[in-house]
Amino acid sequence: MHDNPALLAAARDAARLYPTFIVDPWFVNPKRVGVNRMRFLLESLRELDGNLRRLGSRLIVLWGTPQEVLERALADWQIGRLCFERDTEPYARTRDEAIRSLAERAGVQVICPTAHTLYDPDELIELGRGKVPTTYGVFGRLAAKMGEPDAPVAAPSHLPPPGELEAEYGIPTLAQLGYPEPECPSGQMIPPGGEAEGLRRLHAYLSDRQRSAGFAKPDTDPTAFDPPSTTALGAHLKFGCLSARTFYAEVQKVYREVGKHTEPPVSLMGQILWREFFYTVGYATPNYDCMEGNPVCRQIPWEDNPEYLAAWSEARTGFPWIDAAMTQLRTEGWLHHLSRHAVACFLTRGDLWVSWEKGQAVFERLLVDQDWSLNASNWMWLSASAFFNAYYRVYSPISFAKKYDPEGSYVRRYLPQLARLPAEFIYEPWKAPRPVQKQAGCVVGRDYPDPIVDHEQAKARNLERMRLAYEQNAKGG
Ligand SMILES: Cc1cc2nc3c(=O)[nH]c(=O)nc-3n(C[C@H](O)[C@H](O)[C@H](O)COP(=O)(O)OP(=O)(O)OC[C@H]3O[C@@H](n4cnc5c(N)ncnc54)[C@H](O)[C@@H]3O)c2cc1C
Repeated sequence: MHDNPALLAAARDAARLYPTFIVDPWFVNPKRVGVNRMRFLLESLRELDGNLRRLGSRLIVLWGTPQEVLERALADWQIGRLCFERDTEPYARTRDEAIRSLAERAGVQVICPTAHTLYDPDELIELGRGKVPTTYGVFGRLAAKMGEPDAPVAAPSHLPPPGELEAEYGIPTLAQLGYPEPECPSGQMIPPGGEAEGLRRLHAYLSDRQRSAGFAKPDTDPTAFDPPSTTALGAHLKFGCLSARTFYAEVQKVYREVGKHTEPPVSLMGQILWREFFYTVGYATPNYDCMEGNPVCRQIPWEDNPEYLAAWSEARTGFPWIDAAMTQLRTEGWLHHLSRHAVACFLTRGDLWVSWEKGQAVFERLLVDQDWSLNASNWMWLSASAFFNAYYRVYSPISFAKKYDPEGSYVRRYLPQLARLPAEFIYEPWKAPRPVQKQAGCVVGRDYPDPIVDHEQAKARNLERMRLAYEQNAKGG
């Protein structure tokens, strides 16, 4: 409800208002959107419906391809003005252009404000004389030239009612959408869906003024849980439960109060600017979510290896740090940024030499905060395909984890079969003598897999492959 200019524009001087959500079969597909994200969405819709009802309105849920159901609804409800927030993802752009044309053909006014991002990406690019920023530094200078983003707009205080409705149009359940019940309870690592939870978590996090002002992303802890060390607000930002402009404005308030604060790229404000940067490049780059035909992406001869991909995504690599993170991702739908780094590097240039596009698809399904531009950008980054070129800096699935969690409590939590292993072997169970494995109830090869590769050998081979690929790319090959 907060910072929703499309809702305000729709309600302005209207006698009737039809707040509509469309269950689009393109998204309602367990292969594309996993159960944790779908649950989060339904929680958010239920809360939105409650908030609308408090103001005399309600949410109307329609099912089907948006172009088709809207065309019918515009006629049936005699709509004069159609308002929706601008969405820059490719699927949404094609959909929204089609909707705009059909509405205009029907004589319906269309209002489509930008509010999902801090800035209008077209304005940013125009300010850069049409050149798309491909580094955070260039983007930061453009953003500084743009000045402060618009302040978030207040939530409405009353809304017009809908007209008579001939059906219930209620919010579906997970089962009605063809989903099973999720494995883990809602709100385990990230707060449950909805605006109230998003705002509550934002304010709770920012209430520790010193931590927020001193936030430095590389110092946050990937193995911290209950609560995680970062805001865990990605899903609320993605679904519009929390507006990016509100996030920005509230962090600014803290900075003003505290005075001294860290700076981008590592600061808390720097995080929301990463989001903005990647939205901007993703918006302006063709074929952004693939390697071929993507002008910002290096061409790297990844190998198709379904066994490696399955072992990685099903937490069977034999590297406890990687398998614990992939278990967290599957059960809870969330991973700390540095755990995302570790598993993405491992799948691609670090160990398994599998394309980032495959990893992107697994994240797309499992992450609750999955966001098209951010997912593609970060996968390109971690695979050293774009934005980042220090490909020789490889995360070790052993020493990286030890630094944060020498006792291995993160691994013990997500991989109970390793829970009784002594700390010295927790990241390398295959090195534990057989009697130690037996005593811990975890025999490698029986209760937990052998490592899928020798990390040092795989790393050396892949570094050489990366070196050659970089050489080819430099020659334009
Ligand atoms: C391989 C890989 C895939 C990723 N896929 C996604 C994705 O699909 N959706 C997603 O929201 N983030 C993605 N990220 C970025 C980042 O890991 C998450 O935004 C962050 O971990 C979410 O946790 P948080 O909300 O606690 O982040 P915080 O550190 O609290 O940051 C607050 C917000 O800033 C934004 N942000 C922070 N880091 C980044 C970043 N590196 N890039 C872009 N925006 C950022 C997010 O909106 C985030 O919620 C990915 C990272 C990697 C390495």
